[in-house]
Amino acid sequence: MSEYRQNIMNGEWVIVSSERAKRPADYASTAKTRIVQPEHSPDCPFCKGNEDKCSQPTYETKNGKDWKLRIVPNRYAAVSRPEQIPDTPLPRMRVADMHLFAPGYGAAEVVIESPKHNDNLAFMEKSDVYEIIKSYKERFNTLSEDPNIAMVNIFKNYGASAGASLEHPHSQIIATHVLATHITDELSYARRSFNTYGTCIFCDLLRKEMDSKDRIITISKHFVAFCPFASRYPYEMRIFPLKHSALFGTINEDEMEDLSDILRTVLAKMFTLLNDPDYNYYVRTVPNSDGDVRYYHWHIAITPRLTRPAGFELGTRIYINTTPPELAAEQLRNA
Ligand SMILES: [Zn+2]
Ligand SMILES: [Zn+2]
Repeated sequence: MSEYRQNIMNGEWVIVSSERAKRPADYASTAKTRIVQPEHSPDCPFCKGNEDKCSQPTYETKNGKDWKLRIVPNRYAAVSRPEQIPDTPLPRMRVADMHLFAPGYGAAEVVIESPKHNDNLAFMEKSDVYEIIKSYKERFNTLSEDPNIAMVNIFKNYGASAGASLEHPHSQIIATHVLATHITDELSYARRSFNTYGTCIFCDLLRKEMDSKDRIITISKHFVAFCPFASRYPYEMRIFPLKHSALFGTINEDEMEDLSDILRTVLAKMFTLLNDPDYNYYVRTVPNSDGDVRYYHWHIAITPRLTRPAGFELGTRIYINTTPPELAAEQLRNA
């Protein structure tokens, strides 16, 4: 029989159907073959030599005189800021005909992870992945200094079904003037738990997961990767720092190095086991202005796109997952 499972982080339910448990090869999307890309693509705006197709970088690292990683404003941005960034608060949200609205103030940037068109985060050198993580931290902290930015979101879309429109290895940062209710709901859920039990629910959860080991994929010096008990997607993974910290922007040098290693390790495992699936990942953190609070614990969520949410999921936010996370973790451990 299937099982209802509750996500301890936000109270949401999933249905894990272990009877019809699917194996990696049963997911249709794992059968597709990705087109082999050249190292340089003349039409790609992110490739070396095409720098003039992008706006001026907001961040850049060099390898000698060549660039190694660049962050550029997104040319097709959902939100934007004026050249001269205001240091005073924007006007209050307006209400008209019942509806609340404001101009789309914010920043949208693309992290060009490598000059090579066919590079892949899962197989990059550890030092190159470190540069990506470091660039996330720098931009997170810098964008957070803008008093009109409420939230900085770091994420990666890999493959067309995950929302990527360009093949060149990249991730994205979107900083918004508004806070997502999905995130504020999760934060208040965690704060309620802290007020009731007096401990960080995530720290408690990590201890339990490490004791049982059933859903653990790998553990490093500073991080643990596991498949959540109430995974919404097959082979969903989370990477948590072992030491309590709510704010991604506080990650230190040693932790960034370690995170680079565990991130590319789990991505390589996913690549091998699931035949290079499309995927998303995103960083979950408290907004910078909240400070390093005791009730929340930042982390990275990674979701391979093997299934597509349909009417039931959209209508209820209850996801049906046909690969039990215990089985997924075992296969990922061994991949
Ligand atoms: Zn390219
Ligand atoms: Zn914690």
